[in-house]
Amino acid sequence: MNIYVLVKRTFDTEEKITITNGKIAEDGAEFIINPYDEYAIEEAIQVRDANDGEVTVITIGGEDAEKQLRTALAMGADKAVLINTEDDLDEMDEFTSAKIIAEYLKDKEADLILAGNVAIDGGSGQVGPRVAELLGINYVTTITNLEIDGTSVKIIRDVEGDSETIETSLPLLVTAQQGLNEPRYPSLPGIMKAKKKPLEELELDDLDLEEDDVEAKTETIEIYLPPQKAAGRVLEGDIPDQVKELVNLLKTEAKVI
Ligand SMILES: Cc1cc2nc3c(=O)[nH]c(=O)nc-3n(C[C@H](O)[C@H](O)[C@H](O)COP(=O)(O)OP(=O)(O)OC[C@H]3O[C@@H](n4cnc5c(N)ncnc54)[C@H](O)[C@@H]3O)c2cc1C
Repeated sequence: MNIYVLVKRTFDTEEKITITNGKIAEDGAEFIINPYDEYAIEEAIQVRDANDGEVTVITIGGEDAEKQLRTALAMGADKAVLINTEDDLDEMDEFTSAKIIAEYLKDKEADLILAGNVAIDGGSGQVGPRVAELLGINYVTTITNLEIDGTSVKIIRDVEGDSETIETSLPLLVTAQQGLNEPRYPSLPGIMKAKKKPLEELELDDLDLEEDDVEAKTETIEIYLPPQKAAGRVLEGDIPDQVKELVNLLKTEAKVI
């Protein structure tokens, strides 16, 4: 089975993020594989192990994204592709990313493409569905279970705390939701092997794409951090007095009742 995983290098949102000149400052920031993409990689490896075939991880990014690709190879992916846009593009959006990925995939005869449900930085959840639309294949988002039997596929997807069962067929793109599996940590032998696995680097030229073909359709006007939260206040005294004071504060200070 020919399996591809879309992997995004993202900021670690558990770490402190600062904004300089309207952009998230890269200095001092930690970078990781988008956590939802780890579920996608794990699922791809499990599907390959059950059905034979090959797992290729793809990212669009700069040279620095090689680290995240090597991590995916150390987890067990077979090959990696870095589509380096650093020299060609100043601005990108979801259209740009999807168009480049679809252009790469269009003649690859992918049976299964896995992406994350959402990137924890950009957070649009658009890239997976857009790639499937451009390739003209079926897609199912936010999946928590995947069963493949020949070309038939049975999926359970998360729908706001409930679940939906869907039957579809390959070729297919799915986006991974938390709970799909438990992503493995790269083992030491896995890390050693990953150093020798193939990592292909491509530029727009190699995909016969001009900058105009992938020009962003949207423009980010401003990026800002959420406002600092004011310190909380703990009420003291007997419970009936606290309730009275709380109601009073909600009326006079918070003005919500
Ligand atoms: C090199 C680079 C330059 C950028 N420059 C700009 C800029 O100038 N202005 C701006 O506003 N934004 C910029 N971006 C951000 C970019 O527009 C979005 O991050 C991107 O379109 C994905 O949207 P999202 O983060 O909402 O992902 P989502 O759609 O939420 O991601 C869902 C899934 O799609 C896949 N995916 C997403 N992005 C990638 C990727 N890069 N490679 C492989 N798979 C992916 C992953 O599986 C991910 O889990 C840049 C991104 C990159 C990589």
